[in-house]
Amino acid sequence: MRHSWRWVVAGGLSVLGLVGCGSPPGAPTQASDPPAATGPSAGSPSGSSAGSSSPAPTPSPTPSADPTKLKPGANHNNAASAYVYSAKDVNRWLVEGEKAAGYPRNKIAFLTFDDGPTNSSTPRVLDILKKEKVPATFFYIAGPKALGKADKSLVRRTIAEGHAIDIHSYSHDYSELYPGGRGNAKQVVADNEKALAAIRKVLGPDYAVHGYRYPGGHQSWKGLDEADAAMAKKDRYWIEWNALDGDGDAEAPASSEAAAELVSSTLAESGNPGVAVVLLHDYKDNDLTIGALPTIIEDLRSDGYEFGVID
Ligand SMILES: [Zn+2]
Repeated sequence: MRHSWRWVVAGGLSVLGLVGCGSPPGAPTQASDPPAATGPSAGSPSGSSAGSSSPAPTPSPTPSADPTKLKPGANHNNAASAYVYSAKDVNRWLVEGEKAAGYPRNKIAFLTFDDGPTNSSTPRVLDILKKEKVPATFFYIAGPKALGKADKSLVRRTIAEGHAIDIHSYSHDYSELYPGGRGNAKQVVADNEKALAAIRKVLGPDYAVHGYRYPGGHQSWKGLDEADAAMAKKDRYWIEWNALDGDGDAEAPASSEAAAELVSSTLAESGNPGVAVVLLHDYKDNDLTIGALPTIIEDLRSDGYEFGVID
């Protein structure tokens, strides 16, 4: 089946992702609107968002819950507290599957976008998410390959529209993070701190984050135990995926229809269908995924998934 192949090549995803990381200046983005993404009403978010206290079940109507602002100490706004799940939990749900303690009873989908923000793709992705009222998690390359040259209003818009921002490194440089194919814990930590600082430059000191994704994926590298542990000490947890649309594969699907189908089939074959962490990219000009996104959302919805974000 093509999927065993998919899994094998998944690590190569960021070769393409890297190519996609270049983003020339595109059209400036529009100003933020009120949050469109509304969380699942019946979901039971772990409550272990940035803090550990239980989240408000519904967006607070108080004036302090300004949707354009971060919830202090979080990677999302106040409204998103209703559907945020802790990175630590999502990490375990992926690693341990249904045996993991606290495994959700409802089906939850996390749309995750790597390699952005980019001026060409991110606004289009945000437009679709807004129309569909679906929240997502954006894993930023916080250095010059993406955030450094992106319109910073995209970052604020992402928060204002109810999404979450996690880290996908500062450098996205394999040789720096994994010299000889082996994780360098010091580099991984230093790079993540640098990314955090870069995002705080845009969002302010209130930004805090617990989820990160290794460039190329955790599965692609050896010797990451030390880096995983060092990051866990900082209360940050790597997030892999169990479904993808192939937009990072060396041989990407030929059409958006095929890309959307791949999400369903990889998820079904993952053996862990209760939690869908879908790997997608908002690298430059990613027409494949932008074309597939409405169908991906529709398929997940009709399969009974509610959408969450990762803290
Ligand atoms: Zn990447």
